[in-house]
Amino acid sequence: MNKVRKEKKDNPENPKESENLEMEEIKAIRGKLSEMHSDIKKVMEYSNKLRFETALESSRQEYSQTFLNHLFEDIETGLEQNMVKKCPEKENCTSKFTALLQYNRELIKNVKVDEALISANINKLDELRCGAHYRKCEQCFSEGLNIFIKQINLMRSMEIYKNNQGQKPDISALKTSVAMSEILNPISNKQRLEILKAVAFEPKSFSAFSKLTGLIAGNLLFHLQKLIDCGLILQQHDRGDYMITEKGFKVLQNLNEMCFSLQYFPQQICHSNLFEESKKEELTDESNMLELTEALKQMALTRGVFKVGIATVKTLLGGPPSADLTYVLPEAKSAVCFALAFDQNFIDPFFRKVDQASLETNKVLTNALADGIALEIAAFLQQAGYKAIPQPTNFVYRRDTEDWLLYMHPPISHRYLAVRSGIGYFGYSGNIITKEYGSAIVLVSVVTDAELIPTDSLPEEKNYCDGCKLCLSACLSGYVDPVEKVTVNLGGKKFSYGKRRNNSRCLLVSIGLTGLNASGKWSTWSPGRFKIPEKDEDFVAAIPATIKAYLGRPKFKGGYFIPIMSGSMMEYPCFNCQLVCHPDKEVRTARYKMLIESGVVIQELDGTRRVVSPEEAKEYLNSMPLERRKLYESIPEGDSV
Ligand code: SF4
Ligand code: SF4
Repeated sequence: MNKVRKEKKDNPENPKESENLEMEEIKAIRGKLSEMHSDIKKVMEYSNKLRFETALESSRQEYSQTFLNHLFEDIETGLEQNMVKKCPEKENCTSKFTALLQYNRELIKNVKVDEALISANINKLDELRCGAHYRKCEQCFSEGLNIFIKQINLMRSMEIYKNNQGQKPDISALKTSVAMSEILNPISNKQRLEILKAVAFEPKSFSAFSKLTGLIAGNLLFHLQKLIDCGLILQQHDRGDYMITEKGFKVLQNLNEMCFSLQYFPQQICHSNLFEESKKEELTDESNMLELTEALKQMALTRGVFKVGIATVKTLLGGPPSADLTYVLPEAKSAVCFALAFDQNFIDPFFRKVDQASLETNKVLTNALADGIALEIAAFLQQAGYKAIPQPTNFVYRRDTEDWLLYMHPPISHRYLAVRSGIGYFGYSGNIITKEYGSAIVLVSVVTDAELIPTDSLPEEKNYCDGCKLCLSACLSGYVDPVEKVTVNLGGKKFSYGKRRNNSRCLLVSIGLTGLNASGKWSTWSPGRFKIPEKDEDFVAAIPATIKAYLGRPKFKGGYFIPIMSGSMMEYPCFNCQLVCHPDKEVRTARYKMLIESGVVIQELDGTRRVVSPEEAKEYLNSMPLERRKLYESIPEGDSV
């Protein structure tokens, strides 16, 4: 600087030139300083490295015998304690594992361990596994592998073994779906990760997991099964303890290493702001919702259900009152709806009037099965900490008004849930029709406060209902209007079907109070021949009168108790509208033909039924004493004299 000042002084005539020279010199000095700094750094790094390597080498020599002794004990005690206790092959396998692990252990004496040596030992371990005899062998291999991994980790920390050096994994080869289903999804649940950690070094019992996670019964079982299905843990034998598999251990170990390595970059973790945190929570919630939804579906499908749908408060929004889930559960968020099918083999004999009992029994049992499944699924949800209310297939009504029995509105209409969640379509009859079994099905639901992922409705253009109206022709009550339609809006989607008239129309026929078609040529399985009132308002008077007549008839064998008419056994002589509708129009038409050609039913004094021609039936009725005849039909004025 002194020199610069001097030069400046030396050339007072041209101060600009002096200034440039000064700048050049400063730059040169800076360059030199930087070079010196870099050299000093290199020298220091080199000397540190030398010092570190020397220290490492001397500690390697000093401790390698100690390490070898430790690993020797590790092999002996690990195999002894953790291999299957009672096994005819135990001695043989112990000696093979010991030989391999001892050989691998000896590599610690080397200055550098070649990757080929380690790979060869891994291959030997794999060969042994190929010769495994039993499922329980997994326990022994898992222990063998644990010890092997410990040895490798020790070699890594002694810096004598580094694998995959220079190799960069091809990230594009990562299969997203496999990574999700096989690794990320199973461990993305807090309880499952706790379970996996707990079995990392020793098997654990069901009750130990229950204590650890706070989960009980089915819910804990669900998580354990998920880990088993993904091959992360296994159960030693039925009712036995659970233990980690090789895959489970690797997943856990890699996760641990990843978390550990990220701790060196705290700034990366701190960067996550509140928004990102809440996004993560959302993702976890969604994955839990998905899991629960899938579990419920699987649970139902493995119990005889052929279709499951999920509707939510949102997807049912704007619907009729019986689409309001909060009516049965104020906190409701979702409902699971299930469909079960009647046995199609019993339908033709029912229509031909050859066999009533088989289909009736099948209907009763299918309803009972559906109710049982709903109960079981509700219990599963309750155990998982949710509120859940099963909604039976039938015979439960809203009692908000005095004349509730006249309208018989259910708390929840399964039909709305089923159509909105894609179980089936609305047929003109208003019944749910499915491409699998037509409308010969039973629906049942469970309402819950659990958030589930809704399933969508089916595309209307694929609805097989062609408006044939055979469902209406097979119904003698005139329950569905042949012209007028209604449209319901469920969560923004519109669905139409024939307008239903007063419920009492169907009641009058479906429980057998009457059953003769207006033509007098065919009937349901009921021997009743009372006229169906024309107007809806006339049903109020018609029902009590027909019930009185019904109760006066001789008792028939069999029947089913239903709560609407307590004390009296009932039957199902008509559910024609449901049974006639088949996806195949030819089947539909054939069924209808069977029905209208099947004749009419009369009842003997002892209660048995006979199927006869319309003419024979008339003769039979006319031959009855008046009081008995009144039990079956209204007496025309001339006849009552
Ligand atoms: S019977 Fe015909 S009109 Fe009735 S629901 Fe079935 S396909 Fe539709
Ligand atoms: S059950 Fe019988 S009476 Fe009732 S709507 Fe169906 S066909 Fe008609």
